[in-house]
Amino acid sequence: MTIKELIAISNKEAAAERALRLDDKLRKIYEACPELREVDSRIAELKGNRLIAVIDKNKDLINICDDEISKAKEQKDLILKSKKIDPKYDEEEFICSKCSDTGFVKGKDGTDKVCSCRKESVLEAIRDSGLADYGSFDMRNYRNDYLGDEAGRSKLLTSLVSVMMNKDNSKDLWLYSDKPQSGKTYLAICVCKAAVRLGKSVYYIKCEECGYTKPSVSEEIKYADFLVIDDFAGEVTQDSTCASFINSIIEARGAAGRKTVLVSAMPKDDLISTCDMRIAGKIRNCGDIK
Ligand SMILES: [Zn+2]
Repeated sequence: MTIKELIAISNKEAAAERALRLDDKLRKIYEACPELREVDSRIAELKGNRLIAVIDKNKDLINICDDEISKAKEQKDLILKSKKIDPKYDEEEFICSKCSDTGFVKGKDGTDKVCSCRKESVLEAIRDSGLADYGSFDMRNYRNDYLGDEAGRSKLLTSLVSVMMNKDNSKDLWLYSDKPQSGKTYLAICVCKAAVRLGKSVYYIKCEECGYTKPSVSEEIKYADFLVIDDFAGEVTQDSTCASFINSIIEARGAAGRKTVLVSAMPKDDLISTCDMRIAGKIRNCGDIK
């Protein structure tokens, strides 16, 4: 499930929780103040009668009801004042004041971010995005100077984030190629997780798994807002199942303007000369993360 679907579910949970909390709050207030319970049930009854009068088009009865309702409301106001009860006692309260239970807050740059109250949904979405094995990979622990070349890493991060956030629409297919052991996987996973927190659907997969996943996962790979294919290598794409799958999803995703990043330890030219021909043609025209 995508983070948006998970948040929609947790929104329903929040609504149920708000209703429960309101029930509980009302029960306590009515216990402490039975006269308030009485006047509230009187008002509810009068409103019911008024509705019937409206259906019957009985003007006299409507007027009587209106009169009685306003008298009951005056009485209620007196009770609230004398007992120092908040006039909003019968309204639901948001569980999370930061996001008003929507699950999203505005970030500094104006983009929507998943609120901290939905940590569970984020974790679940991360697990569902092919990232279950990478619990400890996190942008908050990420440092550009981790392997030296701080400026270079910082540029790579910016470049990956701008592709993920659709800021660069010149290409839909991107190649992030760098030497082995340069922290590519860590960086790519951090950006995938950041995408989840931004409410995007994301999938991370190793090249060799392409074409060999469950049909439901293949669908997710096709439709995710952001897809990373890691450990991308020419010889892996010589497997015909893998090649057909990658070729078809690159085409489907490109047609829908969804961004795909291939992460590889091989230079672009080597990939072009060793990949399945259809894929090589696409890599020739892809954008470069650098
Ligand atoms: Zn919240």
